[in-house]
Amino acid sequence: MNSIIEQLNASGASVLAGEMMNKHTNFRIGGPADYYARVTNVEQLKALIAKANELGIKYTVLGGGSNVLVSDSGVRGLVIQIAMRDVKVEGNRLIAGAGAPNTAVSRQASSAGLSGLEWAVTVPGTVGGMVYGNAGCYGSETKDFVESVTALCDGEIKELKKDELDFSYRHSIFKEHKDWVIFQVSFLLSHGDKKEIEEKINALLAKRMASQPFDSSSAGCMFKNFEFSNEKDIARLKEKFIVPEEFISKKNIPAGWLIENLGLKGETIGSAQISQKHGNFIVNLGNATAFDVFWLVEKVKDRAKDEFGILLQNEVQYIGF
Ligand SMILES: Cc1cc2nc3c(=O)[nH]c(=O)nc-3n(C[C@H](O)[C@H](O)[C@H](O)COP(=O)(O)OP(=O)(O)OC[C@H]3O[C@@H](n4cnc5c(N)ncnc54)[C@H](O)[C@@H]3O)c2cc1C
Repeated sequence: MNSIIEQLNASGASVLAGEMMNKHTNFRIGGPADYYARVTNVEQLKALIAKANELGIKYTVLGGGSNVLVSDSGVRGLVIQIAMRDVKVEGNRLIAGAGAPNTAVSRQASSAGLSGLEWAVTVPGTVGGMVYGNAGCYGSETKDFVESVTALCDGEIKELKKDELDFSYRHSIFKEHKDWVIFQVSFLLSHGDKKEIEEKINALLAKRMASQPFDSSSAGCMFKNFEFSNEKDIARLKEKFIVPEEFISKKNIPAGWLIENLGLKGETIGSAQISQKHGNFIVNLGNATAFDVFWLVEKVKDRAKDEFGILLQNEVQYIGF
């Protein structure tokens, strides 16, 4: 009988045993995966998943690793990192492999004179991860530009149209089907002036650098913003602070603002710290463990609940916990 690695490798992928996940996450945190493979085409992906299923090995999908916290003890089973990176433009349609970096896709759209994805240049990670969490910023969300997504769903290749993707704030259907794997995304963009698109990209990048710890090891915003249905939900908050009218009219309290007002900027556990620059970022000061981050997250949640009665939810996805 061949070893598990040999059997998985029959798919055409190069599977590694014990690969450290801190090499593949923006947080630079995460222990070893039992098995790890980087897949570059859909045939490989299909064969690898079929083999893993046959062997009873569960798998976890990874994109650019920019929105995950991987446990210190690593990941049991197989981690499949999606690395299909082809991008092509046809008229006002941009079709990207799910492993294409958002920055490259945004730049490629810009070079083709297509507007819509300028904001995505500031979002680390890949197109697959962007769809998974309906990433967004500066007033735009992934869902605004997706036409369809092609994914491997329970062994079958399916093209899912936008209205089948169940998009909402930081949510897509893929959060309900964690074993489905996105491998291609089609975006519909609009023709625009190349110079204006480029200027918008530069302005957004400058804004991002000024307001967030973009160069530090982090996983982006740790918490979702708090969406409330009526003002009673924020009564305790309003007793203590003047809540900006903009937040009230949008029924949305930015988690970073909340954390700053809890006085938690700079709070540190081990080597994990709530960024001094932006309250919704936890940064790895050098040797942070997943548990340092985990306990810092719990501390923020406890304080938000105790002081304002607000239940914060994670935006970052936990893997291996
Ligand atoms: C400095 C910084 C700034 C950020 N700013 C923003 C921001 O402004 N707005 C925002 O929304 N996010 C932001 N993020 C978070 C992150 O960049 C995005 O969520 C990004 O789209 C995640 O993509 P990824 O490929 O890195 O996903 P990963 O972190 O690798 O994975 C995230 C989740 O998606 C799943 N996934 C990934 N690829 C696939 C696939 N092909 N098929 C199925 N599931 C998949 C994974 O299983 C995991 O559950 C920021 C992160 C950082 C570090």
